[in-house]
Amino acid sequence: MIEGMDTPAAAAHVRFVTPRQAEQAAARRRRAGTETDLSRTRRARRIQRVLAQTYPYAVAELDFDDAWQLLVATVLSAQTTDIRVNAVTPGLFAAYPGPRELAEAPAEDVQEMVRSLGFYRSKARSIQALATRIVDEYDAAVPGTVEDLVSLPGVGRKTANVVLGNAFGVPGITVDTHFGRLARRFGWTENEDPVKVEKDVAALFPSALWTELSHELIYHGRRICHSRKPACGVCPVADLCPSYGAGPTDPEAARKLLGYELKPGREDLLAGFMAGRTRRQLRAEGHTLSA
Ligand code: SF4
Repeated sequence: MIEGMDTPAAAAHVRFVTPRQAEQAAARRRRAGTETDLSRTRRARRIQRVLAQTYPYAVAELDFDDAWQLLVATVLSAQTTDIRVNAVTPGLFAAYPGPRELAEAPAEDVQEMVRSLGFYRSKARSIQALATRIVDEYDAAVPGTVEDLVSLPGVGRKTANVVLGNAFGVPGITVDTHFGRLARRFGWTENEDPVKVEKDVAALFPSALWTELSHELIYHGRRICHSRKPACGVCPVADLCPSYGAGPTDPEAARKLLGYELKPGREDLLAGFMAGRTRRQLRAEGHTLSA
């Protein structure tokens, strides 16, 4: 459990590592010297198992019903939060249900619908260009290969992997800012280039885990292992992470840094996720899902 949670039972599934345990593990790693490939792989897989236990409800945080909706939502999510995109897409898809409707929509109307996401003119242009290409070249159906997806306007490898992994069931690693940062903190890669990070991490895990792993790292990056101040003192993989100490190690100080459903006071929301409720259901019940 996360020590000091107001309702401890709500986070009972989250592994708690004491500062002493984390420091002892770090000392053992220092004594062992350079990590072999085999030890790194074993440590990586242990981290994944702990993250899977911590976030059993981890899925793509963008709401979607099909590949088309996920593709548009992912393109819109550049430079903004998934939560903002989820607030905009129901109206957008109600007005323009598929690529044909969006391709034919007046540009000003589309811009107005996505205005709250920032860069709204270019985002509107991107999704309409995307719609036009999918109508013209793929008979209005989103293609299901990485080569075809990255040939679409505004679609890079990250977006293609999100769509393949979550809408087509094709394993894919999504290297966004959280994934890249955590892969480096875990010592899985030293690379900054997302394509190289993807290759390094892919070598550590069977492909069947790639999509799930992507969600788990992104969840962990948003809730615990933040960019500026990671909550090391309440991190469930503190004893497996060579970057332990990058943020506060005191559990009480670290607890204040937790985000989303792990944040103190959000026990009902966490219990809802653990009970298998979807984000849409939880929102309908009045929960706010922001950080
Ligand atoms: S840097 Fe800290 S919060 Fe991030 S994974 Fe390592 S121990 Fe956990």
